[in-house]
Amino acid sequence: MSQSTSHQILKAPHPSDFSAEARKTQPAFGRSLMEYPDALSRCLSSVEAGLATEVLPLEHSLGRVLRQDQISDVHVPPWNRSMMDGYAVKSNEVRGASANHPVVLSQIDEVPAGRISSKTIGPGQTVRIMTGACVPEGADAVIRLENTQRTGDRVEFFESVGENPYVVPKGQDLSPGNVAAGAGNVISPAMIGVLAACGICRIPVTLKPRVAIISTGSELVQPGIPIAPGQIYDINSHALYALSLAAGAAPLNAGIVQDKAADLLQMLNKHFDKDVILLSGGVSVGDYDIVHETLVRAGVEEIFWRVKIQPGKPLFFGKRGKTFLFGLPGNPVSSFVNFHLFVRPVIDKLLGKNSYGNEIIEARVTDNRILKPGRRKFLRGRLQWTQTRLEVEVLAEQRSSVFSPMQHTDVLIEVPGEVNLLRSGEVVRVHLLHAA
Ligand code: AMP
Ligand code: MG
Repeated sequence: MSQSTSHQILKAPHPSDFSAEARKTQPAFGRSLMEYPDALSRCLSSVEAGLATEVLPLEHSLGRVLRQDQISDVHVPPWNRSMMDGYAVKSNEVRGASANHPVVLSQIDEVPAGRISSKTIGPGQTVRIMTGACVPEGADAVIRLENTQRTGDRVEFFESVGENPYVVPKGQDLSPGNVAAGAGNVISPAMIGVLAACGICRIPVTLKPRVAIISTGSELVQPGIPIAPGQIYDINSHALYALSLAAGAAPLNAGIVQDKAADLLQMLNKHFDKDVILLSGGVSVGDYDIVHETLVRAGVEEIFWRVKIQPGKPLFFGKRGKTFLFGLPGNPVSSFVNFHLFVRPVIDKLLGKNSYGNEIIEARVTDNRILKPGRRKFLRGRLQWTQTRLEVEVLAEQRSSVFSPMQHTDVLIEVPGEVNLLRSGEVVRVHLLHAA
């Protein structure tokens, strides 16, 4: 790693330390661009679903991906449960009871939550019961305390059993053999509750994909260090780290590498033990764009390079051994969009999720927007509900050189390459971003 800590202008390195022979192997400008759906399906078909698993305690499983269906082996609730404080009764015993014509039963026991009654309710009998307690044998309903009056063991009932018998029957929620939680889902707080209800506390989840993130660019400096003329702060390693973390991976910010092939090779060689390497910058075809040829030299098999999209055209995707490599464009907007379109689906698949990538919905655009036809576009947008429909605002700022509006973006609007005008009210495909 050659992270810049200097205040001086960095002296530009010469394009690369490659021999003329090595540079000749570089693919030419002329190669055709891959369409987005093809590129995405190449990404996904290259990746096997689901890394290995680990077993976690329930309380550490939030946000992880469940890898096996969890089958309940208990009834939830495990027995008929009282929903109210009151008296457990046989409903036919209190039929017709009212304030004017109370029914009188004899109390034979009392059950608080956590205990069971050893008694079976017979004719003329009732048991005092608390909320959450087990309804005794023989009873099928609970009469609320406020509609009763007790004197010694004698209880008067002023109401009969209505529509709600205030008893939750055994297994109302789940029964043995039911799937309590399905494999491939992200474990949510609600799912944790369901698993707890079944008494399940050891949860098989997918290991987090390990993602190394490397920014390339001799102009880059880490935040926290004063910048000198010609330098800029490294956005990508930080934004991509955050995106990876939000996607459920275990990222490592490996820092900045200058535009020197030897440095990059050295850095890459440290990270072929990872599941994914995200490089940003230097992946175009400029003189100092050393990423493609360095990857080839490092033995990375190219799966595709350059996609017919805007932003994010220069994207490289390849593989070495079990490691997938993305060469993302240096432009922070482009690499951010590329992450959502390609990296996240790959992480999803490595995680063994049951669906990969962005959820796509349809919404109507709020305003007319003139576009330059060419590549398929992914415009930054913001969703909003009006009273009647879901609308999407195309953010005014769409220049890929301007990163700040990304923080106000919650969707990417996918527009086919040939479209030169979006009309207000038109329905468009909208990719929901889980993290932006
Ligand atoms: P490149 O893809 O290396 O040609 O970079 C394209 C543009 O993005 C240039 O203006 C770079 O300075 C800028 N850039 C590259 N990497 C980063 C980064 N990590 N953070 C911020 N800007 C970057
Ligand atoms: Mg660069």
